[in-house]
Amino acid sequence: MSDRRTVNRLSRREFGGLVATGAALPMLVAPQNPSPARQPDGTPPPQRRLVPDAPPFDAHLEFALKSVALRAEPFPMTQVRLLPKSVYHDAQEWNRAYMARLDADRMLYTFRANAGLPLGAAKPLGGWEQPENGQRASELRGHFPGHFLSASALLYGSTGDKAVKSKADYMVAEMAKCQEKLGGHYLSAFPTTWWDRLEKGERVWAPFYTIHKIMAGMWDMYRLAGNTQALHVLEGMSAWADEWTASKTDEHMQRILTIEFGGIAETLYHLAAETHNARWGKVGDRFQKRSFINPLALRRDELRGLHVNTHIPQVIAAARRYEISGDNRFHDVADYFFHEVSTARSYVTGGTSNAEAWLAPPRRLAAELKMSTNTAECCCAYNMLKLARQLYGWRPDSSYFDYYERLLLNHRIGTIRPHVGTTQYYLSLTPGVWKTFNTEDQTFWCCTGSGVEEYAKLNDSIYWRDHDGLYVNLFIPSELDWAEKGFTLRQETEYPRSESTTLTVVAARPDPLAMRLRIPGWLRSAPTVRINGKVLDASAAPGSYLTLNRAWKAGDRVEMDLPMHLRIEAMPDDPRLQAFLYGPLVLAGDLGSAGLTESHIVGPNLRVGAPNVEQNGSPLAAVNRTPPVPDLEIPTFRGAGADPSSWIKPTDKPQVFRTTGQKKDVTLVPLNSLFDRRYSVYWEVEPAQS
Ligand SMILES: [Zn+2]
Repeated sequence: MSDRRTVNRLSRREFGGLVATGAALPMLVAPQNPSPARQPDGTPPPQRRLVPDAPPFDAHLEFALKSVALRAEPFPMTQVRLLPKSVYHDAQEWNRAYMARLDADRMLYTFRANAGLPLGAAKPLGGWEQPENGQRASELRGHFPGHFLSASALLYGSTGDKAVKSKADYMVAEMAKCQEKLGGHYLSAFPTTWWDRLEKGERVWAPFYTIHKIMAGMWDMYRLAGNTQALHVLEGMSAWADEWTASKTDEHMQRILTIEFGGIAETLYHLAAETHNARWGKVGDRFQKRSFINPLALRRDELRGLHVNTHIPQVIAAARRYEISGDNRFHDVADYFFHEVSTARSYVTGGTSNAEAWLAPPRRLAAELKMSTNTAECCCAYNMLKLARQLYGWRPDSSYFDYYERLLLNHRIGTIRPHVGTTQYYLSLTPGVWKTFNTEDQTFWCCTGSGVEEYAKLNDSIYWRDHDGLYVNLFIPSELDWAEKGFTLRQETEYPRSESTTLTVVAARPDPLAMRLRIPGWLRSAPTVRINGKVLDASAAPGSYLTLNRAWKAGDRVEMDLPMHLRIEAMPDDPRLQAFLYGPLVLAGDLGSAGLTESHIVGPNLRVGAPNVEQNGSPLAAVNRTPPVPDLEIPTFRGAGADPSSWIKPTDKPQVFRTTGQKKDVTLVPLNSLFDRRYSVYWEVEPAQS
């Protein structure tokens, strides 16, 4: 979510101008340029199916409920518990403590103020939750309490923590009073006059984005915490959305959708399926932005210039639309988008976006990296994880979890501040940056909101199931209770700090059951697997599953080795610009902490002012609210061929490496373990002289 008070690169208004008034549509019916045999950077073109040139979506969408059978589903979070003493459990607990420190009445302040209800003694929150009280107000206010409801519902599902549920139940009840005071349907923390501005095309931040967060919070409180009042509030809000949108022509709605709006359709589709009421699906369809989904359904990347974090949720909504209606056009939108973003628009961490947008053509990531310091917004990682999980249910292919693991380990674990629980906005990949975190109660970026959700559901998607058995997709210390089958499985590992995992059957019935282990794509070869200490003859290739089908007994023990090795990933458009990985872990060079203070680390984010690296000479001038940090020369390296282990050597500390034979050698550690230090992930590497 760009704060337009400070971002001037691609203001919402200018950006809207690129796609408004259907200007993009005629391009869709023009003959497609023939694909070049190879991309300009030499890589083969992506595989394409034969697709029609005509835009698949026109003004008329028929909605009818018809659910699509999924091939796999994750276990409910209530059946999976994280075990203590892991990076995941730590992150869950730091986040839980941060959420506990946030006062419910402070989060309700702007809702009560907007409804004209008594405010009590509570002080309002600041940052993007700032109300009108003499200071500059935020037009995004109300978004964070919505996220907080979702996070509370997720955390309750993850841990069963009743205090978390009762605080969120209280917030739902108080918000319901605000809704009642506002007439029974509308609910938000800002006045309805903003909708008039949106309707007239006047400047307003992103009201549908914000209202969606509140609706999603209500949906999650109903779905995961059994709060039926939340469902009632959501139905009221959906009725308001129906009334507001029904009065607009289709053309007018398409213009409105050029203003950031996000995933409101997803929540409406969930509601339609849950209540068997197609009315909500029809309202959701009014939020289908044709200039965005038409090229995707035609498998064309026209993403350049789009705001990333409000478009990924539109794809998640399209995916949900497919699941509840069987309309394959929406399947293709989601399938192609995921493929394109995960392969052609993601950095080595799995992160995507730059200054909240896609600024360059696909596979031009080296060029993109130089365009701002604000690479890889955390909300985008949150939403791409959500999309990957959804698509896996359609086709349980291990590659989705290779991607998921990369993003989880390198972008999410490591962007929560240890012990404090605050989180990041961008995980910048500009050489010489450092990690920055939100303040306790004066920030509330969009990513603070998606952050409290992310770390409340780290037990989700470790294990999946279908008719034949279960999938083990993530190597996270946890216990699965498959009560319906009388099957309990305990996974113990220090992965990714260790290079193996162990699964112990705690309880089982005599019926055979398939246990499918994900064999990560980054492995060099089929790993060794032992059952009850005996090495299995069979294994499976990296990037697949090893299926173990047997009648399990309590005490059965499966051990899988996951040997890691150093490897290089170069930018697609600049093979000299390289990142290093050890197994699944992206390594960062530790460039010291000279000049860094707490005021650099907490509060600001690297996007403030969003200056261009080339424009001001120093990418780090981006942090313009704090004293300058010392200039830093980023070392360049001379490599020795494709195998980095010839010049990057292990040290006596685990997973810590050091370059050798360079003008200036650097220590490399997992990016997710580096805090309060300046770092680089990408390096200029020249080939060795012969
Ligand atoms: Zn964000």
